[in-house]
Amino acid sequence: MSTDGLARWASDPSRSRGRRIAEPPPRGRSEHQRDRDRIVHSTAFRRLVYKTQVFINHEGDLFRTRLTHSLEVAQLGRSAARALRLNEDLVEAIALAHDLGHTPFGHAGQDALHDCMASHGGFEHNLQSLRVVDQLEARYPAFDGLNLTHETREGILKHCSPVNAHALLAGEPDGPARRFVHGGQPSLEAQLVNLSDELAYSAHDVDDGVRSGLITLEQALEVPLIAHWYDDVRGEFPSLSGRRLLYETLRRMLSAQVHDLIDHTATTLAAAEKMHGSPVADAVRQLPPLQGLSENLRAQSAVLKRFLFKALYRHPRVVQMTSLGRRVVTELFAAYTAAPQEMPAEFAGTPTLHRSVADYIAGMTDRFALREHERLTGQRLFD
Ligand code: MG
Repeated sequence: MSTDGLARWASDPSRSRGRRIAEPPPRGRSEHQRDRDRIVHSTAFRRLVYKTQVFINHEGDLFRTRLTHSLEVAQLGRSAARALRLNEDLVEAIALAHDLGHTPFGHAGQDALHDCMASHGGFEHNLQSLRVVDQLEARYPAFDGLNLTHETREGILKHCSPVNAHALLAGEPDGPARRFVHGGQPSLEAQLVNLSDELAYSAHDVDDGVRSGLITLEQALEVPLIAHWYDDVRGEFPSLSGRRLLYETLRRMLSAQVHDLIDHTATTLAAAEKMHGSPVADAVRQLPPLQGLSENLRAQSAVLKRFLFKALYRHPRVVQMTSLGRRVVTELFAAYTAAPQEMPAEFAGTPTLHRSVADYIAGMTDRFALREHERLTGQRLFD
């Protein structure tokens, strides 16, 4: 353990690989806390409140949005990081930034934009998140973007296609795209955020799904993991019903998963330490990826995810809404490429017309996209 309480293979902020443009060290906060603060103050972060997670924003005020999802991921990730003595601030920074590049209308919007960009380099939301923090945020006099540390940028770039990785590497040979060409894992903190992301959405999508009425409680109880915690709660509180019963069931399920993730990861890291001596942060990049949950819970969580896919993400009502979202994005793309003067001047044609249209659309909230769509096409798709 190092002097400030971090485990040996945590990403030590005092050993950060730094920012692309050198800056004086922060006062009274670590480099990764500064990253977190810049992310919270960014425009892209504020927009997450009006971006779809599963439910289109105007369908109700009580469902998760990209913002509340990101906060839940940060909360789970920080709890696990603290227990494992990893760098909690780095986990928080990555978690809060992990969805900054998401288009309006969730995955449907992103798929539509990817199709529109098929012969212009494609569109990937992880890469777009990096583009937001590296280039698109326009707040600081001395640089474009937020000039974040290497460790935060590496965590944001969770996936990257080989073509895009090679393109990024050409401009930054030692940058966050390196592992997509040369192999290896990102920091443990980045891996922890990915695992927390999966736990967060699996639990909150059941909650939103049942409260929206798209999933019935009976359907949800076909999932053994949910049924187990439901019975557990009923055993202790036989008269509990309705939302409190659902909340307590999901709360216990999520807690059990987080504790399992912490215990299983601690065991894995202790075994690796035994085998490799005292590894430092960089050595963990050569280990196999963290699995998160133990084998039994991993299998059960996979059943839960398959259930959500079938019962919620493929629910006719969700599909109907998301196909409207897809149409909005596709028609906006056609409208702006035909008439770039309809975009704000700072977007027009930088670096290419198609990329600037993709950047502009990707940054939109659901409701702004709908307003623009109505303005440009005269059609009103949602009431
Ligand atoms: Mg996410």
